[in-house]
Amino acid sequence: MSKALLCPCEDVTTEEVDHAIAKGFKDVESVKRYTGFGTGMCQGKQCLTAVARHLCQQKAIAPAQVVPFTPRPPLFPTELSHWASLPLDPTEAPPQGVPPALGLSSHALRPTEPVPSRAKIVIIGGGVMGLSLAWHLAGQGETDVVVLEKGYLCAGASGRNGGGVRMQWGTRTNIALAKRSIQIMKGFARELGINVWLRQGGYLFLARTEQIAKRLEASARLHHEHGVKTQLLTPDAAREVVPQLDIAGVKLAAFNKDDGVIFPWPFVWGYAQGCVQKGVKVETFTSVTGFTQSGGKVTSVKTDRGDIACDTVVLATGAWSPPLAAMLGVKLPNEPHRHEICSSEPLKPFLGPLVSVLDSGLYFSQSMRGEIVGGMGDPLEPAQMRLGSTSRFLARYGRAITELMPNLSRLKILRQWSGPYDVTPDNSPILGRTPGLENLLQLSGFVGHGFMMAPAVTERMARWMATGESDELFERFNLQRFADGRLEREDMIIG
Ligand SMILES: Cc1cc2nc3c(=O)[nH]c(=O)nc-3n(C[C@H](O)[C@H](O)[C@H](O)COP(=O)(O)OP(=O)(O)OC[C@H]3O[C@@H](n4cnc5c(N)ncnc54)[C@H](O)[C@@H]3O)c2cc1C
Repeated sequence: MSKALLCPCEDVTTEEVDHAIAKGFKDVESVKRYTGFGTGMCQGKQCLTAVARHLCQQKAIAPAQVVPFTPRPPLFPTELSHWASLPLDPTEAPPQGVPPALGLSSHALRPTEPVPSRAKIVIIGGGVMGLSLAWHLAGQGETDVVVLEKGYLCAGASGRNGGGVRMQWGTRTNIALAKRSIQIMKGFARELGINVWLRQGGYLFLARTEQIAKRLEASARLHHEHGVKTQLLTPDAAREVVPQLDIAGVKLAAFNKDDGVIFPWPFVWGYAQGCVQKGVKVETFTSVTGFTQSGGKVTSVKTDRGDIACDTVVLATGAWSPPLAAMLGVKLPNEPHRHEICSSEPLKPFLGPLVSVLDSGLYFSQSMRGEIVGGMGDPLEPAQMRLGSTSRFLARYGRAITELMPNLSRLKILRQWSGPYDVTPDNSPILGRTPGLENLLQLSGFVGHGFMMAPAVTERMARWMATGESDELFERFNLQRFADGRLEREDMIIG
């Protein structure tokens, strides 16, 4: 059997691109994510034109609709030792990012037909939150639902994250939610027919200070009460889990073997495809531009493809939520913070767990494709809706990861990107009703851990919405708590 390669690095054939088209992935960004073309050593320099031409030849898109994928730095695959040796002023603020170029209303792929004129429930935001809520609502028999997404699927934080899933949390609620999410994730392929590459290699937290060591000890006690078998390890014992670690300065480690990583993109697509199969409408490249309201209720959602009258609106726009809420006169306390992340050339599988130094916010894991995917928060990053990548990040990350794993110093970084953390004053989400606008529901503020919370939180939210049964989650975590001073603090935050 012959095969025609479009992307030699990643072995992507014409048949695979045709398969992506048949699945509805027709724009270059989505086909890149679905097939993996352009993500290998040539960084897309050789294959982008070939794939774009093939999409046009197959009439998936017209030539005028070809929008190339966003180029990702670095310019060439570059070793971590190089990044680690860059001069770095730890007190200097990171260079300003760029405003996200997502879902411009002039996007070539924006459908020309209007959106439905009415729906019972409109969910704004087609990230993991909006789509998983729509999926669970359909499971409750609610299919008169429209999801509005201003970009392509995976355009927001849901397509830009590290895919880490862990039960090691600092509050009972998050432990319980994460446990349930991981249970749902295990059945995802069976239920939604797509492989999300869940790999339970564990999470290994490292503490370099007494304060963080105490936090690991306290949360491990809580884990045991909830049946999560977190082990507290000496630095030497941590080396038995990851033998390549340089444990100098490490005081304590915490390891739960049942934590792990997933591949975020198929997770988002799986929910989207499942929704569509159940009759939910998922409208991509469709921006919400305003609302009408009357009598303390939102009556319709305005989009760049027309207005939708509705009974209920769910704001699931992650870090973009505050400006949308402001259109309705609602003030949300969430702040967007750029978080940078990168991916390396592939290595043979050697790293079991996701490793995180809780003191510095460094984290990294090995994906099923062999890449080392990791990031590190920057305490000097200001609150702003800006994305883009910096060499400062790679310098900080390069130093931190090669200090901990010196044998990675020759590893080459292939791609870096960033996404917005959706940060709230207590690091916990904003859920449920909005004071003054009863039919506006909040579903945002998941900081840097919303991916792993989405399945469990939206399962409960769909039940709460469809049945009217009370659920303390949507009282305790409501927007009103900030005005009441009832904070729900979570401190096991990476980054
Ligand atoms: C670098 C990084 C690493 C992370 N690592 C992890 C991790 O390891 N594990 C984990 O669980 N979580 C992680 N997270 C967090 C996780 O990605 C998010 O919490 C989660 O994806 C939030 O999902 P969401 O649906 O709320 O938001 P998003 O995925 O951001 O979706 C919101 C959507 O709303 C759309 N939108 C905005 N404005 C409009 C409008 N006007 N009209 C229509 N649509 C609009 C946006 O385009 C976007 O797609 C990470 C995040 C980042 C940035």
